[in-house]
Amino acid sequence: MTLVVTGGAGYVGSVCARYLLDAGNDVVVVDDLSTGHRDAVPEGARLVVGDVAEVADEVLGGGDVDGVVHCAARSLVGESAEKPAKYWHGNVVTTVALLDALRRHDVPRLVFSSTAATYGEPEGSPITEDAPTRPTNTYGATKLAVDLAIGNYAAASGGALRAVSLRYFNVAGAHGTDGGADGGGSTAALGERHTVETHLIPLVLQVALGQRDEIAIYGDDWPTPDGTCVRDYIHVDDLAEAHVLALDLLARGDGGTGGHLVCNLGNGQGFSVLEVIEACRRVTGHAIPARVAPRRAGDPGVLVASSARARAELGWKPTHTDLDGIVADAWAFARARA
Ligand code: UDP
Repeated sequence: MTLVVTGGAGYVGSVCARYLLDAGNDVVVVDDLSTGHRDAVPEGARLVVGDVAEVADEVLGGGDVDGVVHCAARSLVGESAEKPAKYWHGNVVTTVALLDALRRHDVPRLVFSSTAATYGEPEGSPITEDAPTRPTNTYGATKLAVDLAIGNYAAASGGALRAVSLRYFNVAGAHGTDGGADGGGSTAALGERHTVETHLIPLVLQVALGQRDEIAIYGDDWPTPDGTCVRDYIHVDDLAEAHVLALDLLARGDGGTGGHLVCNLGNGQGFSVLEVIEACRRVTGHAIPARVAPRRAGDPGVLVASSARARAELGWKPTHTDLDGIVADAWAFARARA
């Protein structure tokens, strides 16, 4: 198949592109390189540099594209509060333009990288797909708007466009580091490289690398077993596998969903901030000083996904669920690039 991966120079998109190439597909990456990295585009993929909306006709117009994996997005929660236009245009307007192009060029399949931020503060745990969607930040609101738009376009297409939205939580780990056995220095290794880093595991590893003095724990008075927030850390390899399985499902049908299937993806268990820091200490051998800081605005206490639907509909099962293993991959990648 010929597949387009938007955002294929980014963390999740590059690993998805790698998986799709390894499965024998032709892959075209579309990325404006605003937050992605040219050298993260996997070997074998063709890179088209540009805004998704602007290059969609050029990339999809040849009539030979079988599907699109749409990972390109603005994804910083804090920034989304300050710059809503950047998020409504970058995520919603751009994706609607992509949907129009998919219909214009009869592209039959779309897999969308959505997010658990569409749910907001959960009422129960683990979170299922029929939980209320009440995003607590602009980023989550824009991703929810896109999910709704995709559902509308798929329904109106009469089966010509089928789609899966994958809602996932805290992506972590790295691809191709071999658990650090090769030092993580392989040029094929793909991991998290954000210019502005806000995510827990890479920040903790920066302490181990001597790039920051300590890690702040955002609250230790949450109603959780150790008082710190619990999150669902999913390995980027498991995530990429789910994208491949979603395309496989769409090649067979739509799982009886009327054209749009929404699936949560999670590790199966949550880990607390303290458990993450402890895992980082074990893996790196570094003391990693930590200090308790006030809660971060907008943080729910517990975010854990039910993956029951993904297991049933996609046949997906996460295999890199061990926290030390996830951290070891992230560490190998971070150390090789320090
Ligand atoms: N966190 C923390 N200190 C940090 C960064 C994050 O305690 O410097 C906590 C944060 O409050 C949340 C968890 O780590 O409970 C994961 O945060 P992250 O930003 O990685 O992902 P999020 O869950 O917000 O998507």
